[in-house]
Amino acid sequence: RQEGDDEEVLSTKKQMTDHGVKVASHYNSLQEVGLAVRSRSRIFFMRNFNNWLKSVLIGEILEQVQLEGTRHISVLDLGCGKGGDLLKWRRGGISQLVCADIAAVSVEQCQSRYEEMKKKSRINEKIFTAQFITTDCAKEVLSEKLDGPELMFDVCSCQFVYHYSFESEQKADMMLRNACERLKPGGFFIGTTPDAFELVKRLEASDSLSFGNEIFKVTFQSKGSYPLFGCQYHFSLEDVVNVPEFLVYFPLLEHMAKRYNMRLVLKQRFSEFFEKKVKNEHHRSLMMKMMALEPFPCEDQSQPDTDSSGEYSHAKEHYSRAEVKVPLGTLSRSEWEAASIYLVFVFQKMPRG
Ligand code: SAM
Repeated sequence: RQEGDDEEVLSTKKQMTDHGVKVASHYNSLQEVGLAVRSRSRIFFMRNFNNWLKSVLIGEILEQVQLEGTRHISVLDLGCGKGGDLLKWRRGGISQLVCADIAAVSVEQCQSRYEEMKKKSRINEKIFTAQFITTDCAKEVLSEKLDGPELMFDVCSCQFVYHYSFESEQKADMMLRNACERLKPGGFFIGTTPDAFELVKRLEASDSLSFGNEIFKVTFQSKGSYPLFGCQYHFSLEDVVNVPEFLVYFPLLEHMAKRYNMRLVLKQRFSEFFEKKVKNEHHRSLMMKMMALEPFPCEDQSQPDTDSSGEYSHAKEHYSRAEVKVPLGTLSRSEWEAASIYLVFVFQKMPRG
């Protein structure tokens, strides 16, 4: 604050330092690209791999909810982005979806994707109802913005989002509250986030403040000590993300979640999750489809699959250049180095007692 600043200037200054504002403007500025451009990307397979992993996670959780006898499944997609998971919700046969994100442009794109999906659905297919909310879920109480004051969720899904909230205890707690307070007893909070242990291990092994390769770079401001909240680093990933993120010390998250009656039921690095799930015939064939060089209706796309043989020739070229055959012979070593930073988590709400 400098002398002479009026209220308007102060408020602008505050916004400039607010990470929420940076995150929103970053995601709002990302361009939608079609499959043709995406398949040329050096992280084409990694995106498909991440999508496969989310499909398996979401599919298995919805199956579990159904097995417990729930027929009308309600889901909260916290940090929904442009709606990359809409098709997964559709495939899982849910009844109701609430999509929330801090980036208004992403929420608009998510909503138009949903409308498009509804328009193109089969005559007898009943597509879930949906509400779209633009809000900072690390600052605002989401339940006050829901259409139904009594609405409770079977699942909250928070994919590649939670680490933005670990800027402060208040923010991390608000995000957690939004994820968990409207969960039914027995409901699940699922997600994916970078593994702080892995990030710190790689940083400590590096002789500078950053590490990475030609597709991603992680840069810290210092090393040796890592505060529980606000431990900031920059993650840039090819054309995707270049905004500040924060270390999520998982044992702390697990501890904080107890406040909301949540019990950790699964925490696995992507590599472990992959190795376990790929043994299942169904998951393996989905993986083959999603990673294969044939046209596959990739979830994260707004444009139709036209002339896919030509589009995928870039992917083939990439494949032939792949340095290492992991996993299933499709991700390059560089992609795998980036993907293997992440972990999958599942919390379940305990019945009050
Ligand atoms: N979940 C989507 C997916 O898996 O495709 C999008 C993931 S994208 C990497 C991260 C998303 O988190 C962005 O859409 C961003 O706007 C959103 N986000 C970050 N901080 C947020 C916050 N405080 N409240 C709501 N959304 C947030």
